[in-house]
Amino acid sequence: MKWGSNYANGREAKALRNGKNEAAVQGPGLYRLNTGSCNGCDVELAVTAVIPRFDVKQCGCTYCHDPKEAGILLVSGPLTVKMREQVLRLYREIPAPKVVVALGVCPISGGVFRDSYAFENPLDAYLPVDVNVPGCPPRPQAMLEGIGQAVKIWRGRSAGDGEK
Ligand code: SF4
Repeated sequence: MKWGSNYANGREAKALRNGKNEAAVQGPGLYRLNTGSCNGCDVELAVTAVIPRFDVKQCGCTYCHDPKEAGILLVSGPLTVKMREQVLRLYREIPAPKVVVALGVCPISGGVFRDSYAFENPLDAYLPVDVNVPGCPPRPQAMLEGIGQAVKIWRGRSAGDGEK
């Protein structure tokens, strides 16, 4: 199976190739937030972003730099005590419907930082996490799989299917 064929249906893939129907192709904005990671997940994500076959556009979303333009919040790193309030504030800024992705084991469980004085709690103690992408760091394929799931959830909520 060619990688990425899961993420864009035929109409979207054709639109991507033709540069048409941009709004439908772009979908939700993807806002990335590092809450204290070792940067392993972030480096993997950054490398993933510049490799066309792992481009998140094939999932139907694009990176954005303003939470108000986002639909998906992608969190990397353990949730540290110092970052908790900022994470909650950024989450509130994202308009509904919104989807939360925990990238790597750190936001899921604390990972290698779980015994650190700086670690607060798993992310899902504070936010409704929709998609977990385990790994340390996750493989690019797993990242894209998780982002693709998040886009599907966002689309469902946008269509009125259990909006959050
Ligand atoms: S999951 Fe692993 S690579 Fe990712 S931030 Fe945590 S320690 Fe680093």
